[in-house]
Amino acid sequence: MYRKITRRDFMNGVAVTAGAAMMPWHLAEADATRKSASYYPPALTGLRGSHPGSFETAHSLRDGTFWDSVGKPEDTGELYDLIVVGGGISGLSAAHYYRKAAGNGARILILDNHDDFGGHAKRNEFRVDNAFRLCFGGTFSIESPAPYSAVAKGLIEELGIDVPSYSKYSNNKLYRSFGLHPKIFFDKETFGVDKLVMNFSPRSGGESEDSGSETSHLMKQFAAEAPIADQAKRDLKALYEQPKDYYPGLTSDEKKARLARVSYATFLKDVAGVHDDVVKLFQAMPHGLFGVGIDAVPAQDAWGLGLPGFDGLNLDPAPGRGMNRDAIRSEEADKYFFHFPDGNATIARLLVRKLIPSVMSGSSVADVILAKADYAKLDQPDSAVRIRLNSTAVRVKHLGDAASAKEVEVAYARNGKVYTAKAKNAILACWHVVIPYICEELPDKQKEALSSAQKVPLLYTNVAIHNWKSFQKVGTNSIYAPGMYHTYVNLDLPVSIGGYECARKPDEPIIVHMSKAACHPGLPARQQHRYGRIELFTTTFETMERNIRDQLARTLSDGGFDPARDIAAITVNRWPHGYAYEYNSLYDSFWLEGGEIPCEVARKPHGRIAIANSDAGAYAYTDEAINQGYRAVQEITRS
Ligand SMILES: Cc1cc2nc3c(=O)[nH]c(=O)nc-3n(C[C@H](O)[C@H](O)[C@H](O)COP(=O)(O)OP(=O)(O)OC[C@H]3O[C@@H](n4cnc5c(N)ncnc54)[C@H](O)[C@@H]3O)c2cc1C
Repeated sequence: MYRKITRRDFMNGVAVTAGAAMMPWHLAEADATRKSASYYPPALTGLRGSHPGSFETAHSLRDGTFWDSVGKPEDTGELYDLIVVGGGISGLSAAHYYRKAAGNGARILILDNHDDFGGHAKRNEFRVDNAFRLCFGGTFSIESPAPYSAVAKGLIEELGIDVPSYSKYSNNKLYRSFGLHPKIFFDKETFGVDKLVMNFSPRSGGESEDSGSETSHLMKQFAAEAPIADQAKRDLKALYEQPKDYYPGLTSDEKKARLARVSYATFLKDVAGVHDDVVKLFQAMPHGLFGVGIDAVPAQDAWGLGLPGFDGLNLDPAPGRGMNRDAIRSEEADKYFFHFPDGNATIARLLVRKLIPSVMSGSSVADVILAKADYAKLDQPDSAVRIRLNSTAVRVKHLGDAASAKEVEVAYARNGKVYTAKAKNAILACWHVVIPYICEELPDKQKEALSSAQKVPLLYTNVAIHNWKSFQKVGTNSIYAPGMYHTYVNLDLPVSIGGYECARKPDEPIIVHMSKAACHPGLPARQQHRYGRIELFTTTFETMERNIRDQLARTLSDGGFDPARDIAAITVNRWPHGYAYEYNSLYDSFWLEGGEIPCEVARKPHGRIAIANSDAGAYAYTDEAINQGYRAVQEITRS
């Protein structure tokens, strides 16, 4: 466990990244090599996502120390039709829609503080033992709890993505064909002993046969193996098999109103009266959706998500007031799913290629998968659209009064210097919590609404391993680990497309995807996110790496997993500002009782400045990022 994985081990075969592998990316170096062939962020390993060098400027702005530390801004003399702050899917979509409205000659500058474009839609590449492996560093797939809007669907189709064709590329029976099943890892710190046990839920892991007989078979196996109290096993079985009406005499609406005001943890403990081990078992299940555990998820949402305990309440199936949109099922939306090997980074790459064709060769979805982006082409003076990376917008202001000004000036920091550029309009497609610090002229009420969009802190960790024989030996491809550092551990979804081939046999290299929600149970959701963000910004990569190695070694010990031998590379995509905050009936009274919705106040246009990002819809999905980019463009082109 404590043997070294040498730097050479990490770099073996990672020829493109050479000296950059495992090293933090410094801005100065980034700029020096930006125009060289070695500037290729997708192949960097180590700490990615909000990588070192990407956030310090914004934090010093927040702390009020930025302007003292830099000289007078230098005017680039550049004049654009539109400057977009934020090169995520919302900003890229906004640029696309603006060009559609204003013509291909429209001059657009997109600024982003990261060394790569796409925002959360991030591509991670690995080369392991001569195999090329792609993975997603953030946004996993085209999916949304509610159906895509005509606008968002229209863009997906315009980019050439044929969502219904997904099954052609996905080998969704692969892991079952090797006898692998979703499992749960009980850890000794939480449950007294380390043990890997069959998951009782056939829905987990994504390859379910989902039949009633399978559920009862899995439940029996789980009960025989799980290191939890006998009473907890009985309580769990009863939750599923002996429905009870905990609120006799109330109408369905009255029951839903109660469920909206109580957390699922409290419902299980105080209403259903289950053993503590059941609560511990369910605690981390919603991490992947909400970034918090069941202590901060309303029971009504748990009902919508299909968690047990509600069957005896005879609830009307219609969504209750104040439900989170993630908890409302839609058959149409369920069918609209597409996972590219690099997740929705493919959408970002398709948008970039549309905006600046010289960046990537090809013209179809198939040929974009393996196309290598030429980062030197992103910001060329002769291109109508330019994407300037490693550039943090630090001030956005009208030149004159917002109501009558003809231009907006955007100052941005890059390599320790501040530059300005002007435009007829600006779209702020960046994280809403940043906007009050860069656009001081906004009304106070709007700034307050923007600041309330506390993003959800997450880690999306990708571990490249030489083979998955240890997973095969322990019989799983998908592990829920309620007490561990990473809550979910999954073998990459097997998708082959556009010449990219996923791993098909256990002796082939594969990516293990691990996810963590940095939450602090017991506190209100926004506070949990705030503390989680601090935690992620202050934890070193070495600590994360140690936790990853420890977790994989313990979970797969019966499979003979040896971290020093089996791990080829680790990329931790750190997202202290992850999912957009979604309203929660436990903490956001306006969501339950009605009243002003903060994201509607936050996204109001101000003169020549419009506001996008998925934060603007308080909805952490790609379709919302697109919808909001579209709306922002309508606002500035209408006037
Ligand atoms: C880990 C993770 C997984 C997700 N999975 C899914 C999924 O499977 N499906 C789905 O539909 N959605 C998913 N989402 C939601 C995802 O956020 C949206 O899908 C969408 O990609 C958001 O795009 P955006 O452009 O609104 O924001 P972002 O992608 O965050 O882009 C905003 C950009 O603005 C930049 N920025 C901020 N401040 C400044 C500044 N001052 N100057 C310059 N740039 C700045 C940011 O650094 C960022 O690059 C996921 C999100 C995360 C974090």
